[in-house]
Amino acid sequence: MPAPYVKLYVGDVIRTRKAHPCGGDVWVIERLGADVGIRCRTCGRFVLMDRIKLERRIRAFLRRGNEPVPEPEPPPPPEAAKPRGRRPAQPSPEPRPRRRIVKRARA
Ligand SMILES: [Zn+2]
Repeated sequence: MPAPYVKLYVGDVIRTRKAHPCGGDVWVIERLGADVGIRCRTCGRFVLMDRIKLERRIRAFLRRGNEPVPEPEPPPPPEAAKPRGRRPAQPSPEPRPRRRIVKRARA
């Protein structure tokens, strides 16, 4: 069975099976193509690697570059920020006595 095609994105943070001579094994993908450019997160060195080779070396994705990092939910606004809409109902004035409408016949 062929290995599933690994989709890579610029910005992906990967962990490789084999560590860099500097000891770091976390890389950031910076360039895609036949060769993939990855930068060592530990020493900052940029390395171009054969895509096939790299795919075989990837042990895990720590972050996918095509997905925004989820931000924590903002706290709910304080009470004062409540939308002001309705005014408190005003007490109605004295009920007016009804006036009788008297229809007057025209003279
Ligand atoms: Zn390194």
